[in-house]
Amino acid sequence: MTHTAKYTGPFDEPKNKHELRDLQTRGLIWTVNHAFAGSSFYRKRFQEAGIIPDHIRSTDDIDKLPFTTADDLRKDYPFPLLSVPYDSIVRIHSSSGTTGKRKILSYTAQDIEDWTAFFSRCYRMAGVGPGDRVQIAVGYGLWTAGAGFQAACERAGAMAIPVGPGNLEMQCQFLVDLRPNVLCCTSSMALLLGEEINRRGIRDRVNIKTIIQGSERCSESMRKTILALFGAEHIHDIVGMTELYGPGTGIDCPYHTGIHYWADYFILEIIDPDTLNPVREGGIGEMVVTTLRKEGAPLIRYRTRDLTRTISEKCPCGSVFPMHDRIMGRSDDMIIFRGVNIYPGQIDEILSEVEEISSEYSIELERRDGKDFMLIKVERNPARTGNDRETEDTIRQQIKQNIMVATDVKVVDYGSLPRSERKSKRIFDRRWLP
Ligand code: ZN
Repeated sequence: MTHTAKYTGPFDEPKNKHELRDLQTRGLIWTVNHAFAGSSFYRKRFQEAGIIPDHIRSTDDIDKLPFTTADDLRKDYPFPLLSVPYDSIVRIHSSSGTTGKRKILSYTAQDIEDWTAFFSRCYRMAGVGPGDRVQIAVGYGLWTAGAGFQAACERAGAMAIPVGPGNLEMQCQFLVDLRPNVLCCTSSMALLLGEEINRRGIRDRVNIKTIIQGSERCSESMRKTILALFGAEHIHDIVGMTELYGPGTGIDCPYHTGIHYWADYFILEIIDPDTLNPVREGGIGEMVVTTLRKEGAPLIRYRTRDLTRTISEKCPCGSVFPMHDRIMGRSDDMIIFRGVNIYPGQIDEILSEVEEISSEYSIELERRDGKDFMLIKVERNPARTGNDRETEDTIRQQIKQNIMVATDVKVVDYGSLPRSERKSKRIFDRRWLP
């Protein structure tokens, strides 16, 4: 196959599983050839693995390809995985990386077009289109969120109100004056803003019916709280990451049975982060993604560190797009406590069942005399009159039963745990502090 820097396959949505599979095969073969020809990084990596593009003839061959990691992106700074000439790049975005160098990703004009096209599917899947007003309260600038949410909103034909993050005063003013019916933000921001409109007594003048939220885990109980605070009908979880274009790579439909993801733009694998082998069907593991049309910085078996599982049940909406579950945390966030692997999502799930507490919690880990201790702080639900001691006992028992570890639990006043406009920090691991 001759190398071409442009993906030339069809751009329409696949009509059935057969067409989807065909798009994946074509996209994978194109990507492998494109990366091999255009990127010295990939060429070297393939050669080390003894792979040439001709070895990849169908999606079943994907496990012959070597993995890529976040470290590869940092090492190759500032233009990692670049597979096209510099003058084909029309934009860069950067992640908010907490340690070391930022991740910078490059986009060609076609990459931006593709991102906008599939992101606008997210709005359509959430029932948002012409006539809708969308308050976009996410970060603008180097981050992918603002640019992605806005371009796709306009592509979907809805009206964008690009307020950006924070600034509760302006958020409230626009909610009342422009009466948007859709809000896009993180779940922490949705909670904060929902509490604020109730505190100000303006909820009756606010018209938010649909909330599209992304970039952090949101428990079932936090979801219910947010819906109630706004009197909204739907919360949709949108997923994505800078390496894979940005947000908008999948969303749940109004049946909320799982996240439909755009399998005509990338292949999803779920692997065991320890053994790197595929997990059994439906098991929790790390998402690994391979792009099918990305020109600037294609991803080949990129280890995202995000934990989820695939969902094989059919969704009543009839979409051809397969589903994965909500993101259950990061494989890096896995807590190893007294020899047990714990994902924060497991604690979320248990706490969500307890009606005496609010959605906010924190996990504090300490080491005393060589032994690990875990303290879970939860906020009292102001609408309930339960006994704190009983609530603490219930949670302790539930965690013991479900995760097999002993913890301390403390009920604290509603509103006393830290709130944040971005991602709330919930795990405080002080075990390694002197
Ligand atoms: Zn569906």
